Amino acid sequence: MIEVHPPHGYVDLTRHDAADLHVVNAARASFVQESGDIGDYERGLINYLLRNRHGSPFEHTSFTFTVRAPIFVLREWHRHRVGISINEESGRYKKLETDFYTPDYGHVRTQKGKPGSYEFHPMGIIDATAAVTKIEQAQRVAAQTYEELLEMGVAKELARTVLPVSTYSTMVWSCNARSLMNFLSLRNAPDAMREIREYAEALESYFAETMPITHAAFVANDRIAP
Ligand SMILES: Cc1cc2nc3c(=O)[nH]c(=O)nc-3n(C[C@H](O)[C@H](O)[C@H](O)COP(=O)(O)OP(=O)(O)OC[C@H]3O[C@@H](n4cnc5c(N)ncnc54)[C@H](O)[C@@H]3O)c2cc1C
Repeated sequence: MIEVHPPHGYVDLTRHDAADLHVVNAARASFVQESGDIGDYERGLINYLLRNRHGSPFEHTSFTFTVRAPIFVLREWHRHRVGISINEESGRYKKLETDFYTPDYGHVRTQKGKPGSYEFHPMGIIDATAAVTKIEQAQRVAAQTYEELLEMGVAKELARTVLPVSTYSTMVWSCNARSLMNFLSLRNAPDAMREIREYAEALESYFAETMPITHAAFVANDRIAP
C-alpha cells in the first residue's frame, strides 16, 4: 500500500495479471508465435509497439487497485472511461466516515492567468493558515450536520448531501496497461491537479514495478499512451 496525503488517502495494488511478456505474446499472435522470456528482441518489440502506437497488445493485462481519495479527486478520476471498471463505496447503504482532505499549508495555492493556462503559486503562510482554518471549520460543521440529520432519521442518501467534495471515498479501480498509460500521461503530468497527480505517481510506481520494460518504453516515448 502507498499512502497518499496521509492519514486517510492511499493506493493499493490489490492484484494484477500484468507482465511485459503478456504484451509481447499478444503482439506475436500475429505470427502464431510466442516468447518464453524477455530478451533484446522482446524489449525492441515493446518499444516498437509503443512508438508506433500499436495499442491493443497492451490491453492483455489487468490491474486492480483499491483507492481511497477525496471525492473531488475521484470526480476527475472517473472521467477516464475506456478499459476501466469501477466500484465505489455507497453513501446510500452505509454511513460515511467523515474523513476530509485538508491541504498542507505549503500546498495552499492561488491561481494566476487564464482558464486552461493557470499558474499556481503557494500562498504566504499567514493566508495559508487562515485558509486551512476556514476549510476545517466548514468540514466540522458539515460533519456535525450529517450526524444530526442521521440522528433525526433522515436517510443516508439524503443526509450525505451536506458533505463536501473533500470527503474521502473508497473505490476499486481496474484497468489494463493501455488505459493506465492514458491515465498516467494525463494525470501524472505538470498540468494535472496536484492532488490527483499524487495518486497518479503512486499508480506509476506500481506500473514501473510490474511492467518495467513497458514503463521504460512509455517514458522513452514522451509518455504518450499507445
Ligand atoms: C489537465 C486536465 C484538465 C481537464 N479539464 C477538464 C474540464 O475543464 N472539463 C471537463 O469536462 N473535463 C476536463 N478534463 C477531462 C478530460 O477532458 C478527459 O475527459 C479525461 O482526461 C479522460 O481522458 P480520456 O478521454 O483520454 O480517457 P478515456 O475516457 O479513458 O478515453 C481513452 C481514449 O479513448 C478514446 N475515446 C474515449 N471516448 C471516446 C469518444 N467518445 N469518442 C472518440 N474517442 C474516444 C480517446 O482516444 C481517449 O483518449 C481535463 C483533463 C485534464 C488532464
